[in-house]
Amino acid sequence: MHYDPLKAPHPGRGLCHTDSYWAATAGPDPEDDGPLAGDRGTRVAIIGGGYTGLSCALHLARDFGVKPVVLEANRCGWGCSGRNGSFARPTLSRLKYADWVDRWGEDQSRALFAEATAAIDTLRGLVRDGGIDCDLQPDGCLKIAHKANRIGLLERDHKVLRDVFDAPSELLDPSAIEAGHFKGEEAFAALRMGDSFALHPLKLAQGVLRMARGAGAVVQGASPVTDWSKDGTAHILHTPGGRLRAETVVLATNGYGPERLHRCLASRLLPMLSSIIVTRPMTAAEKAACNLVTTDIMYDTRNMLNYYRRLPDDRLMLGSRGAISADPAVNAAHREILLGNLKRKFPALKEMTVDYYWGGWVAVTRDMMPHVHQAEDDSSVHYALGYCGSGVSAALHAGRRLAERIGGGAEVLPLLDRPLPRIPFGGLRRLVQRAMFSWYHFQDEWL
Ligand SMILES: Cc1cc2nc3c(=O)[nH]c(=O)nc-3n(C[C@H](O)[C@H](O)[C@H](O)COP(=O)(O)OP(=O)(O)OC[C@H]3O[C@@H](n4cnc5c(N)ncnc54)[C@H](O)[C@@H]3O)c2cc1C
Repeated sequence: MHYDPLKAPHPGRGLCHTDSYWAATAGPDPEDDGPLAGDRGTRVAIIGGGYTGLSCALHLARDFGVKPVVLEANRCGWGCSGRNGSFARPTLSRLKYADWVDRWGEDQSRALFAEATAAIDTLRGLVRDGGIDCDLQPDGCLKIAHKANRIGLLERDHKVLRDVFDAPSELLDPSAIEAGHFKGEEAFAALRMGDSFALHPLKLAQGVLRMARGAGAVVQGASPVTDWSKDGTAHILHTPGGRLRAETVVLATNGYGPERLHRCLASRLLPMLSSIIVTRPMTAAEKAACNLVTTDIMYDTRNMLNYYRRLPDDRLMLGSRGAISADPAVNAAHREILLGNLKRKFPALKEMTVDYYWGGWVAVTRDMMPHVHQAEDDSSVHYALGYCGSGVSAALHAGRRLAERIGGGAEVLPLLDRPLPRIPFGGLRRLVQRAMFSWYHFQDEWL
């Protein structure tokens, strides 16, 4: 948690995965092609070896015969892709479904939902085609009203899913929640949605890495891009071990990209820490007391939402906002805050303890939407980023869409194909975030 993209020049060089439950249970990383050494050239260079970069590399190599080079500062999956909350849902935004319709109207919202569903299909297709063993769980997602006055939010989304998207969903009252899912507090109603599931995020990243290399992409770990220059129309990416010359560059760095990497990123993203705990396995008595039988992914109606699930080995995972800065001392306190949140939801787990605690940078954009676009002053620089904490399927899909654009000239959905909006007074981002978090906390707990 020490790297801060708003301050540091790059994310490190050859670092191990963060000490997470996922890293402890994924098994060894597949091989990559080692660090970039000396000077080489490629048609397409991709900066970042997470879901976006690896998926773009795979689709370019497999579907368009373009053999790109991926430069990853650390190990593939070291960023969000190997440390996230493991939820795959048909969404491409941090906004609620009902807010989509308020913002863009029914037709554009339907198109966005179709693209979000296509993203889930991309994920399922990769898992199938690559034979990726990433502990896929059965379908099911519960959005849970943490207060009685939040039930209306569920009803709004339910109506949009049914009447606008024609997607099945079901409202559950507390007795249905208790009968089919769990016994706990802060559960006044739930909206149960399909086409959503949990998985093992790092195993997924490892699988896509294998597929990308198998298709012919070159993946160079321990190769942070520390400088970027141009020689005519060619890009020269500088790393500690060598230089890569490329006609086209893809920025697939999401919340881990340093501000100064390219001018199209400057003051465009707010990297926010999200933190996760994983507990010890529940005892038989604890399991019986909270009857947590569901394999559904769950999240609540807070602005600063808690997302949680039971893991296959009977542990519980819960994530929520982290600290504002990357300071390790401040981050340590969040472990106890998250455990407190879990115990509030499941009072029967009052003796619960935490075995794993980690965090990562979520990339938030001004409009709460991801962007799949090109630098305004250089159409040979492409980017896909800003998933606002909902990027498991979205990032894999955006990487694919970029490959289709670069390799085949295909169009990207217009709502996503827009420049990253600049955040006004970018230097004050952390101050604004602090004020925003206080307001959200007040709304979540007191209104
Ligand atoms: C704690 C947490 C929980 C989350 N939970 C969920 C969830 O449950 N569901 C969901 O849908 N989404 C979730 N997300 C978001 C999701 O994980 C991301 O949106 C997605 O993984 C983004 O993938 P990516 O490939 O774009 O970025 P990343 O996986 O972050 O990859 C970017 C890579 O770029 C590399 N890089 C950066 N700068 C350079 C450089 N200069 N040179 C070389 N390499 C560089 C980094 O090392 C990094 O590996 C969560 C995120 C976090 C942090």
